[in-house]
Amino acid sequence: MRTARSRRRNRGHSTLHQLAAIIVGGLLALPAARVGAAEVAVDAGHTLAAHGATSARGGREFDFNLLLAKRLRDELERRRLAVRPINFDGQIASLAARPEQAAGVDFFISIHHDSVHADLLQEWDWQGSTQTYSDDYSGFALFVSHDSPDLATSLRCASAIGARLRRMGFAPARHHAKPPSGTPRAVADAANAVHYYDNLVVLYRTTLPAVLFEAGVIKNRDEELALLDADRQGRMADGIATGIAACLYVGQVGQASNSQPQDPQPTATAY
Ligand SMILES: [Zn+2]
Repeated sequence: MRTARSRRRNRGHSTLHQLAAIIVGGLLALPAARVGAAEVAVDAGHTLAAHGATSARGGREFDFNLLLAKRLRDELERRRLAVRPINFDGQIASLAARPEQAAGVDFFISIHHDSVHADLLQEWDWQGSTQTYSDDYSGFALFVSHDSPDLATSLRCASAIGARLRRMGFAPARHHAKPPSGTPRAVADAANAVHYYDNLVVLYRTTLPAVLFEAGVIKNRDEELALLDADRQGRMADGIATGIAACLYVGQVGQASNSQPQDPQPTATAY
């Protein structure tokens, strides 16, 4: 099992070189035309009724997730990728319904914002109410599942997103591998903050490549404000969309050169 996994990881690394060449070579205008047929499911994590984490100033994680999910939809559509919004009304019935609604697309991304373990939080007064925060942890992170039906593509896309965001100046989280409290996550790609997280329903129940994206730590008082900045949200969405487009483009090139030179379109059933 371990050997198979390391083989898969090595394959992922070789495609990363291709990906880096595309990003560095400034060819990112090309994927818009080439991946025109691809469809991406963008999932807004949590719901109105169960909103996820609470920010340092009492904000609801779902509201943060929805804002960034909508910006990502816009950026993907600008690249002529089709988008299937999942849970934009905040009323989805179950976790399992998310991948079910995404069936048939080429890639699934679930948008979240991070908290930290309760042991690490301190109290402060924000506009007359007691809230909790930690300013010690920050940064974006990506998660994939070993149980993904297409682990290689999931890893490749996660690394592509992380690499693009870093190149744009966004800082990756460094605390998930060895948090002082909470569950350590095995590292898949340390530089780009990609980790394994095997028990997330939205990751292991999918039938397609899937990534969970944590945009940053909303318990961090400075990062919370940064995550609410509309310009920064737009830039982050731009980086994620570029990573996805580049990743799907490389996948298409691989498929076309391997077996179906007459049909370079990606087929969802292949996933
Ligand atoms: Zn969340």
